[in-house]
Amino acid sequence: MKLNTENLTLLAIIFGILFGAFLPEIALQQQIIGSLFLALLKMLIVPLIFASIFVAIVGIGGVQELKGVGTRAFTYYFSTTALAVIMGIIVVNLINPGNGLEIPVGSAPEIREFSLSDFILGFVPTNIVNSLANGSVIQIIFFTILLAMATLHLSEERRIPLQNFFSSLNDAMMVLAKWVIKLTPIGVFSLISFVVAEKGLDSLLPLWEYVLAVILALGIHATVTLPTILYFFAKVSPLQYFSQVREAVLLAFSTASSSATLPVSIEVSQEKGGVSKKSAGFILPLGATVNMDGTALYESIAVIFIANLAGVDLSFGQQILIFLTATLASIGAAGIPGAGIVMMVIVLDTVGLPHEYISVILVVDRILDMFRTATNVWGDLIGAKVLDK
Ligand code: ASP
Repeated sequence: MKLNTENLTLLAIIFGILFGAFLPEIALQQQIIGSLFLALLKMLIVPLIFASIFVAIVGIGGVQELKGVGTRAFTYYFSTTALAVIMGIIVVNLINPGNGLEIPVGSAPEIREFSLSDFILGFVPTNIVNSLANGSVIQIIFFTILLAMATLHLSEERRIPLQNFFSSLNDAMMVLAKWVIKLTPIGVFSLISFVVAEKGLDSLLPLWEYVLAVILALGIHATVTLPTILYFFAKVSPLQYFSQVREAVLLAFSTASSSATLPVSIEVSQEKGGVSKKSAGFILPLGATVNMDGTALYESIAVIFIANLAGVDLSFGQQILIFLTATLASIGAAGIPGAGIVMMVIVLDTVGLPHEYISVILVVDRILDMFRTATNVWGDLIGAKVLDK
């Protein structure tokens, strides 16, 4: 086995799990290393998405072309997310976790109520400097798309300086990303061992049927559904593509954050996966926030599991409602750890289930978050490759 960063990252995950499980006291004391690595990744996000989206849109070349790419991107996002939710609903109905399980329910964790109007208004920045400062990815994307489209309307003389500026910024950010990527094995080892030491693998046991349902459904979506789409639409070998971009998937697993993984997804998909700058720069940042197959699938399973715990029989109509709201919730969820569980309130509300049960699944949420985030990022990477073709 070659000792490149990808393989070292895989080893780091395995040793990180063992280290966290067997030497939790030490693992708990080295959180700073993982946090430092995460901070470096986050440092890249804002300038990188700003530059990469601009360069991608200007590269696409015109509003008409952009419409075409945008429509295809959303068709891909929506259909893969729908397939993921359907898979979740099928698997959870087959395994039926939580039936007859008696788990004491704590008080409802404090979660802000969801408001549709805030959700819609949240796309538009009232002050772009504020959005950049807060790292509001969706707002930055919205503004950058408009700015790039406006730039396309300028005369060549006015357009080129701006285009050169963003293009150079983008290249410099990619070099910076490469430097940070070199630290991945150390960062991942630290992050994983900390999570395992803090949560303890035995926390998974009481809820094992639920955990199994989530991991199984995510596994089928990631190893059968998505690769089939890649194979048929891009005529690319899924195994080969995975081995080219696996660093990003492993990092998504370790950080449980699509956003923190974004710099690496952009880098590996272009440099190793052969995805064009245009597709990687546009599809990946957008996908990291709106295309979350893993999260959507997880929401549907979690809600049906909670219904079982509460002894509520869900009708077919209610399962359709879950399908719709789980999809919406996954679009609304930010690419940060635990975002999915916050959005769960919307799905619970639509079928009238109490929020208190969130405290039951919260225990295992971080570990499941790692699996769903890896699926989210894998879905984005496949999307970039498919739409590139
Ligand atoms: N952590 C996930 C992500 O960043 C979102 C979620 O909580 O489901 O993709």
